[in-house]
Parts: sequence; C-alpha cells; structure tokens
Amino acid sequence: VVNFFLPYEGLQQLIDLLIASHYTCIGPQISDDAIIYQSLSNIKQLPWGLRDNQAPGSYRLEAHDKNQAFAWANGPQAVKPNLFSPKETLFSVKRDENGKLIFKEKIKSSKKALIGVRPCDLHALKIQDKVFIQSDFVDPYYQKKREQVFLIIVNCSYSSSNCFCLTAGGHPQAKSGFDVSLTEIKYGFVAQFSSRKARELLKKLHLKKVSESQENEAQSKIASAVKGQTKTLPLQEDCKKLVNHSTSPQWDDVAKRCLSCGNCTQVCPTCFCHSEFDEVDIKNNDVEHVRQWDSCFTSNHSYIHGMIVRKSTKERYRQWLTHKFATWHDQFGTSGCVGCGRCVTWCPTGIDVTEEIKAIVKDEDSA
Ligand code: SF4
Ligand code: SF4
Repeated sequence: VVNFFLPYEGLQQLIDLLIASHYTCIGPQISDDAIIYQSLSNIKQLPWGLRDNQAPGSYRLEAHDKNQAFAWANGPQAVKPNLFSPKETLFSVKRDENGKLIFKEKIKSSKKALIGVRPCDLHALKIQDKVFIQSDFVDPYYQKKREQVFLIIVNCSYSSSNCFCLTAGGHPQAKSGFDVSLTEIKYGFVAQFSSRKARELLKKLHLKKVSESQENEAQSKIASAVKGQTKTLPLQEDCKKLVNHSTSPQWDDVAKRCLSCGNCTQVCPTCFCHSEFDEVDIKNNDVEHVRQWDSCFTSNHSYIHGMIVRKSTKERYRQWLTHKFATWHDQFGTSGCVGCGRCVTWCPTGIDVTEEIKAIVKDEDSA
C-alpha cells in the first residue's frame, strides 16, 4: 500500500473533482452546537479547531487546535440517514382515467460522497449492509443508494470518554471498505486511495508519497486515540449471556431511569427498525407508501393482533439491549454494536449500555 500526503488544499481539489463528477459531497459541520453531516463544498465549512467533550447524557464542543479539522470523535449522526432515510416515500400507486393502477418507484438516489466518516461508522455501515442487502431479503431502496456512495473516511486521533470501539470489534483506524482513507497530520493528511474510482481521482491530484516522519506522525495520532479509550464493553460471550438473565432485578432498576424516549435507537448507527404505512390522497386517487424510522421503545412498535406485546419500559429496554448485544449474533452473525458511544451520550438520563450489561450478566441469581 502506498500512502500519499494530501494537503488541505488537496482535499479541496478532491471535493471539487467529486462535485465535477456529479457527486453531492456530505461532510461534518457545526450545527446547533454539535457536529453533523450535511452538504459541503468547501473545506472552510469543516469543524476547524473543535473537540467534543462527551459523557453519559452530555455533549459539549470545546476549542482545540485551530489548524485541525478532525480533532473530534463524533456527533449525533452517523452515515445512516444518507442510506436509510428517517422518512421516505418508497413508491406510489395511482389510478389513471381508465381505472388502471400505475405503480411508480419514488426513491431518489444520486451519487453521494461521504466525507469524514469515522471508522466506527464504517463498521456500522458494513453491519447495515448485512441487514439490508446481504441477508435473505435484499432491500432494493437501500441497495440503490449504497451503490452510489463514495466513502472518504478519516481515522481517529482522539477517543471521547464514551468511545469503546476497541472492545466492540473495531479500531480507530479503518483497514478496508472505503474508497479513500485519511489520517490528519500537520498541514493535511496521510491518504490511502483504495478503490478503482479513488485511484482515478488520485491521478488528477499529483500528490507526493508520504515521508517517513509523516507516516510516523499519523501512526502516533491513531495510537493516541487507542490509548485514550477507557470505556470497555464486556466480552462477547458475556454479552450473549443477556438472554439468560431476563429476570434480573437490574431491568427494573434501569426501567426507573429510562424514559422510553427512543433517543438511543435514533442515534445508533445500526438500528434499523422502521414502520411502513400508506398516505392516501383521496382527491387525487393517489397512495404513497412511506417508510419511517421507528424504535423498539415505542409501544406501537410491538402492536400485533390487537395488542401491545411489550407494554412496559422494562420490557422494551430488555428487548433493545438483548437484541443489540446478544441475539443480533444469531440473526446476522455479528454484534449490533460498534462502540460509537452515541446511545450513552445522547441518553437524556445518561444510561450507559456498557455498565448495564456488566450489572445484568454479573447477577448470577437471575440466570
Ligand atoms: S448501541 Fe450505542 S454504542 Fe453501540 S453502536 Fe449503537 S449507539 Fe453506538
Ligand atoms: S435508554 Fe435513554 S435514550 Fe434510550 S429510551 Fe431510555 S432514556 Fe431514552
């Protein structure tokens, strides 16, 4: 693998080339005091000089080195909304003047370049691929969008106090599954152009190979993200034991703190629960079929045959945690967690999944 030095102005050139190739570039920016991904055309829009200070139930941006654009860990969003929209019309059905039903697919997919994707979010994307396109059922709507994505990931130089990717099967440095990978150093990035598309762009950028000191600088940045990670997830075999602890008193304890708000599922980059319904326009004889994010924390999500199956917060929390960390393995051959820490940060009462699992599986009486 040959690594190149991509100066900041080179990143701008790369964005310009992608825009000229009809990509919409999406990248991290500050909005409402958080880092979120939205349309980006200029590197000036990046979150320069900022770092996120995260704790259970808390997220604050603080001043950091003003010459760095990626000194932060993550914000409330991952790449999920770009491929699996919070709300989208999948298709419509209309009756024409002869009474014939006309079916129309409604998903608008276009070429998207996602810039600044974190390694944990790339890991989450691979898990969503398993759910949507690599299982028995292929979701054509997700697939259509996925095929048009160009991924520029940025390895982490910092772990927030809620990050635990290392014990969730990940690493602050991504090894595969991207088009371009970047590690931020002084004045730019150590860059790897992995896919065929990326190497075509590389030809137009006229970059120099990295020097040994630049390579070392990049590696020491990643090492500091590794060293700074203190939160840990219990071992996989212990997480799987959650299924044997359905009567643990800890479920009652967490239910007293949980508001059933569903924030954790909305920010989680792998949660895929959704509901589908039809919006009917009687006047125009038109029906739109809509898919919208749902959450296992809503009572209606378990409404089957005239009854709500999971009536209490305790049952809903147990469903979420047990599925994500234990039965997901049986269903998809992987954990449903990549250790991004978002569910801990954005939980209004600061419930920490890693602590709850430890408390539940250590309670042998409920097994
Ligand atoms: S369960 Fe929490 S830490 Fe794990 S991937 Fe989802 S939001 Fe991130
Ligand atoms: S665990 Fe936290 S974020 Fe999730 S539903 Fe309960 S209160 Fe809301």
